[in-house]
Formats: sequence, structure tokens, C-alpha cells
Amino acid sequence: MKIICVGRNYSDHAAELNNAVPKEPVLFMKPDSALLQKNMPFFIPPFSQEVHYEVEVVVRIHRIGKYIQPKFAHKYYNQLALGIDFTARDLQQELKSKGLPWERAKAFDGSALVSPFVDIAELGDIHALDFHLTQNDTVVQQGNTRDMLWNIDALIGYISQYFTLKIGDLIFTGTPAGVGAVTENDRLEGFIGDRSMFQIKVK
Ligand code: MG
Repeated sequence: MKIICVGRNYSDHAAELNNAVPKEPVLFMKPDSALLQKNMPFFIPPFSQEVHYEVEVVVRIHRIGKYIQPKFAHKYYNQLALGIDFTARDLQQELKSKGLPWERAKAFDGSALVSPFVDIAELGDIHALDFHLTQNDTVVQQGNTRDMLWNIDALIGYISQYFTLKIGDLIFTGTPAGVGAVTENDRLEGFIGDRSMFQIKVK
């Protein structure tokens, strides 16, 4: 399986990092080794002094497809999760400034937290989902999927022009504003609506 991530899919987050709002989706990938194992804490890696949380809605593909038209994209998934795209921001800035790929900053071991999946039938309108992240019980990020620059179906259409989507592939759909650094002993909890999706310790 592969993990496809979308960058700058919320204009408020693009602005907070001084990035232009993109004209087409920004894509990058994480390998399966990036998945944080169930019930494990997130360990701050030794190569970064500034790891940021980015809370994101995650889509799980359940049908193989290529060149999927957005109007048919809803047939290719039936579950969503909430995740964190952990980012070594200091390293990412260094790589960006040199025009180099982001993988070391974005795709390291444990950099992809994914909650248990929930059937979309239980979630209501997935194109207007509230979600938020708390850090030690303080809300630090709040988003609504209606504010995506490209919604889930548009993303699937775009991504599948380049990459065949296979069963079990995950798509991280981008983060809203409010990203910030984690510190040792933080407790992060993610919610879709009022539903707690994950709780994790930082070590
Ligand atoms: Mg992200």
C-alpha cells in the first residue's frame, strides 16, 4: 500500500506557512514504514528540533482505479479516518530552500498516524465535516472539509491520473491552519465532530 499526501489543500494553512495557494494539488508520498504502529507513542526523531502536527482527514481506497472521474470517485472509498502528518518542519524548510524533495522531513518512520476507520455512512456529509485536534486538551487546529481547495472526489480524480489507486491505499487530504510543534509528554487527541478518533502521547 502507499500513502499519498496532499499539501496546501486549505488556503488558511498555505498562508500561515507563507506558501502561495496552489493552482493544482501538491502531492507527496510516505512509504508504509511511515505508519505509526497502533497504540504506540510518537517518538520525536533525533534529527529534528521542530516536529509539527498536521491533523488531516484520511481516506482509505477500497477499489482499484486509474483515471477515475471525480463524479465516480465516491465509489472508490467508503471509510474515513483522522490522522496526523507529522512533519520535521526545520528539515522541510531546509530542503525546500534548496529545492530538494521533502521525504526525509515528511516520510520518516512513525510520521503517519492514522486512527481507526469509520464508515462514511456514520459520518453524515463528508464534504462538510468538522474536525479538530487538541494538544493537552487545548484546541490547536480546527477545520471543516468544505474548506478544502480540492475535495476528496476531486483529489481522487487528480491523483489517479498519475498513480493507480489500489485497495488499502491511504490519502491524507491536507491540514487546516494552526500547525505547531510537539514537545515531549504532549497528549494529542483528534476528533471528527464530537467523536474522539485517536489519542496519542509524544515521547
Ligand atoms: Mg500535511
